[in-house]
Amino acid sequence: MRTQVVVIGSGPSGLLLGQLLTEAGIDNVILDRVGKDYILGRVRAGVLEEGTVGLVDRARAGARLHAEGLPHDGFSLAFDGRDHRIDLFGLTIGKRVMVYGQTELTRDLMHHREKSGAQSVYDAANVQPHDFDKGKPYVTYEKGGGAHRIDCDFIAGCDGFHGVSRKGVPERAIRTFEKVYPFGWLGILADVPPVNHELIYANHPRGFALCSMRSATRSRYYIQCALDEKIEDWSDDRFWDELRRRLPVHHAEALTTASSFEKSIAPLRSFVAEPMRFGRLFLVGDAAHIVPPTGAKGLNLAASDVHYLFAGLVEHYQDRSDAGVDRYSALALARVWKAVRFSWWMTTMMHRFPDTSDFDQKIQEAELDYLTHSRAASTALAENYVGLPY
Ligand SMILES: Cc1cc2nc3c(=O)[nH]c(=O)nc-3n(C[C@H](O)[C@H](O)[C@H](O)COP(=O)(O)OP(=O)(O)OC[C@H]3O[C@@H](n4cnc5c(N)ncnc54)[C@H](O)[C@@H]3O)c2cc1C
Repeated sequence: MRTQVVVIGSGPSGLLLGQLLTEAGIDNVILDRVGKDYILGRVRAGVLEEGTVGLVDRARAGARLHAEGLPHDGFSLAFDGRDHRIDLFGLTIGKRVMVYGQTELTRDLMHHREKSGAQSVYDAANVQPHDFDKGKPYVTYEKGGGAHRIDCDFIAGCDGFHGVSRKGVPERAIRTFEKVYPFGWLGILADVPPVNHELIYANHPRGFALCSMRSATRSRYYIQCALDEKIEDWSDDRFWDELRRRLPVHHAEALTTASSFEKSIAPLRSFVAEPMRFGRLFLVGDAAHIVPPTGAKGLNLAASDVHYLFAGLVEHYQDRSDAGVDRYSALALARVWKAVRFSWWMTTMMHRFPDTSDFDQKIQEAELDYLTHSRAASTALAENYVGLPY
């Protein structure tokens, strides 16, 4: 079998790239090691930058997102028992973010791919990229008891942090940068109305908390926890009590609680692999970088990678120029590092670190005070939160 681009991974980056390529008339096949239902069962990101929404629109998959997504013009930084609103819309002169769950975005992209007739192979075992450094790449996989091979022009490694694409690159060709944070996030999903119409990022002596949402009736809440916490030690009641303690009183009193239907602990890390291109193999999204979720950047960075790669591939096929694919890694990484910096900064400012000294604590308090009382500092936060331009 032959196609123009093999996309490894059917997460948001693979599906978005696949849909954009299909719309542009570029033949592609998506391979994923798991099934659709498994992918749709993963609860992850929920805050989309305007650039991400624009790409989904360009892939002609944005109708439900616009009908059901919740545009947000600001959020609250809560500390000292009070809300300090960051006016995203005012500070960035008209920009906002859209709250729409990654699961729903994935469902929409899968639906449109199916309608377009483009090929996806789910439950593909032992997917392996080959000869991407030699000009005639191909990908092999196993399915239905047989071995399969797809010859192609390019391979897009959209297979997440644990995928095969990055692992397939010789160690000497790749450099990695990593920071692991000494805490995790315990998150729950519950069918209750959000405690506030905007997100609340709370800095509290007991640790960070985030009140987020997926819709007007479904809430996503997180609390900072130690890395050795066990999920079975956290009953719903214990979670709700701890969340209340970390919020300003008026929010704690307004919190509606119910049984959660998803509960998990996620470790936090920053990770970047350089470069993001190896001959005819490109790393995209979490395959190349991970950020802690504090700045809501993971999914949005995957989308900006897709933007640069899609532009390069269109240039290759329509203009017969490789300038775009040659620039892919440098362009993507310049934006990646700015988002890595922002996510690290938000994480550092909002969490309690186990080894925080009195001096560190005073600096954190001064930073929050400055941030919420200086228009210049609030603007820098807002500009990064809504997403830097592509
Ligand atoms: C628990 C959790 C919570 C998160 N919360 C947030 C948040 O609140 N905000 C935010 O912005 N971001 C968040 N993120 C990050 C965000 O979800 C990711 O940045 C985003 O999913 C990246 O998309 P992707 O398509 O690059 O990778 P993925 O979504 O990881 O998709 C990769 C795909 O590749 C497939 N795959 C893997 N290995 C192989 C293989 N060997 N062969 C074939 N296919 C393979 C996988 O099955 C998967 O479908 C969270 C991530 C996690 C894990």
